[in-house]
Amino acid sequence: MTLQTELPIVDQPSAPIVRRPTLTDDDRVELIGLPFEGLAERLEEWGVGRGQAKRVFRGLHVHRHRLTDINSLGRHAKTITEHSRPTVAKLIKTVQSTDGTEKLLIEMFDGAQIEAVLLPMRRERYTLCVSTQVGCAMACSFCATGSLGLKRTLTVGEVVAQVYLALDYASQSAPVSDHEKPMPKRSLSHLVFMGMGEPLHYYERTRDALRILLDQHGVCFSARNVTVSTVGLVPAMKRFSKDFQGRVQLALSLHAGTDHTRQQIMPLAQKWPLAQLKETLLAHPLPGRRVLMLEYVVLPGINDTEEELDGVAEFQRDLRAIVNLIPFNPFKGSSFRSPTLQEVEAVDQGLKRRGVPCSIRVTRGQERAGACGQLAIKGFEEQGL
Ligand code: SAH
Repeated sequence: MTLQTELPIVDQPSAPIVRRPTLTDDDRVELIGLPFEGLAERLEEWGVGRGQAKRVFRGLHVHRHRLTDINSLGRHAKTITEHSRPTVAKLIKTVQSTDGTEKLLIEMFDGAQIEAVLLPMRRERYTLCVSTQVGCAMACSFCATGSLGLKRTLTVGEVVAQVYLALDYASQSAPVSDHEKPMPKRSLSHLVFMGMGEPLHYYERTRDALRILLDQHGVCFSARNVTVSTVGLVPAMKRFSKDFQGRVQLALSLHAGTDHTRQQIMPLAQKWPLAQLKETLLAHPLPGRRVLMLEYVVLPGINDTEEELDGVAEFQRDLRAIVNLIPFNPFKGSSFRSPTLQEVEAVDQGLKRRGVPCSIRVTRGQERAGACGQLAIKGFEEQGL
């Protein structure tokens, strides 16, 4: 199936008008990438007035129409349009797995492509696995995206547009099940920043995208339904903790119990050792019944030894954190082996014996390369999907 949905949220600016300074591309801002306060400030600056901020924000983020369609804006629509540039995000392909997982291939204005994955949940809901970068600079050796290197970071508007494409797609689509019966429509209620890229690498962008997506004037995702996963960039983690006060869920990709092993599989671990990560997590506020998530990709023979599990138990002590075990998902060219179910269960049991709460993540979307760590456009193309 080929779907084409463009989100030219704002109109292309019209030809320059006499007496007005010509605005170059660089001067123009991406309107859907402005959090509410930023938008209000810009509107003030452009002579439209802060008073219009609610109307414009709602129009862009709830109704998602072009500015010229917001009747009540009148002449302001033109002024705003002249100062802003459109965000282009096209849904160019979707791939469905038999387990209901749907992978969306999205193309940006410059041809850059990213993937977002819709994961069906109980009670007619979807979780969206959101990408923040094209490729990734973190170079974790077990990750397909990491093997691509970083091509570029998505703009705030592109992250937001990705979510809107998925929201619209989820509410429109009635995927066909194994038995050719149309499946019920689902609503997209949860976001996990676990797609391509490191969300805390260009932290401000992720911060602004989160602000927009959580804003009460906009689509208003519930903070507790949003999770940001990081390789462990300490300074950005601290800012994230401060900015969101633990309301947005935090997941740390732990993946080893010793610095030695962690450094072997995650280059960033050389910069931020486990002791510093733990200190940072201890300072992370956890309101209500929130818990931290420690992700652990099971790599047999590498991070499932007694020494590693002892290290994980030591790390988890004093933290309100649960370990989420992810069986390694192989991808073309990867040099690791997938664990057997017994091997994953042995890690699960080993951690539980040490008093560490943990669960095994069900791998979904695997047959169509939509599973954790498999998101890489190269792989997508090679498989002819
Ligand atoms: N950059 C973020 C988000 C990455 S993707 C981070 O590192 O946390 C989300 C999770 O999938 C991370 O825990 C990541 O380490 C894991 N992952 C990456 N490659 C994988 C693979 N091949 N199999 C299983 N999990 C993988």
